[in-house]
Amino acid sequence: MSELTSTPATQDMAGLRAIVTGGASGIGAAIAATLADRGATVAVLDIDTATADARHIPFTCDVANANSVNDAVSGAARALGGIDIVINNAGIGAQGTVADNDDDEWLRVLNINVVGMARVSRAALPHLRESRAAAIVNTCSIAATAGLPQRALYSASKGAVYSLTLAMAADHVREGIRVNAVNPGTADTPWIGRLMDAADDPVAERAALNARQPHGRMVAAEEVAGAVAYLASPLSGSTNGVALAVDGGMQGLRLRPV
Ligand code: NAD
Repeated sequence: MSELTSTPATQDMAGLRAIVTGGASGIGAAIAATLADRGATVAVLDIDTATADARHIPFTCDVANANSVNDAVSGAARALGGIDIVINNAGIGAQGTVADNDDDEWLRVLNINVVGMARVSRAALPHLRESRAAAIVNTCSIAATAGLPQRALYSASKGAVYSLTLAMAADHVREGIRVNAVNPGTADTPWIGRLMDAADDPVAERAALNARQPHGRMVAAEEVAGAVAYLASPLSGSTNGVALAVDGGMQGLRLRPV
């Protein structure tokens, strides 16, 4: 975690009930903490709940498996007394060009990163339709539109998350359900930590990753969480179908981390 804290400016999410997939680590853990700090009750749905904060209700859930998702979402709805907010955050990385990943790997990653978000949303929709402040926020990525080298499969998966966000925003707005996304740049999380540790020189790799960002440092998970909290809260009640960049300006300035 960075030195940032998610000091609540308000309790504007008091009484709201949220599920956060992948909420036991990294960006998802920061989102769960920020929503809880702002008054929401949070259930964390993660394939590995061991590191979930004790403030949240943990549900073991593999977003790649329909039975697992249906069980976890209905369990969370029972435990929370309903669901107002769905944070589709669970996702995994994939490296290489289109030539480097075989069909099984393509289907495995798309199943988690894309179908997982559709699956969780589908299971939660009946509960969201009962809410007076329903919102879905999908963790997308600058990879959706940046054309990153050596990230063909990951980029395709996040491009699909962006399209899914737009389509769902159109489909469900008249039901009172808003659907938005965040596009983090490279964020300092355990996932990126593992990638840095695997480099020949982890310290040099960290410095290189920081230098590659427009503002000279990686994004903090808490900064992504702040954007997600805004999109999930009633304060963004007229915001629908956007992907908010949290990347130091990479997307807005049309830069690429080459
Ligand atoms: P992380 O590995 O630190 O955390 C991911 C969490 O998801 C873990 O708790 C993991 O157990 C869980 N998870 C993995 N597979 C799952 C599955 N099948 N079912 C349920 N839970 C599962 O990663 P992170 O960096 O925090 O990434 C979170 C999200 O942010 C991902 O969607 C990722 O694509 C996106 N993202 C990350 C970055 C970055 O630089 N870190 C940048 C842009 C987007």
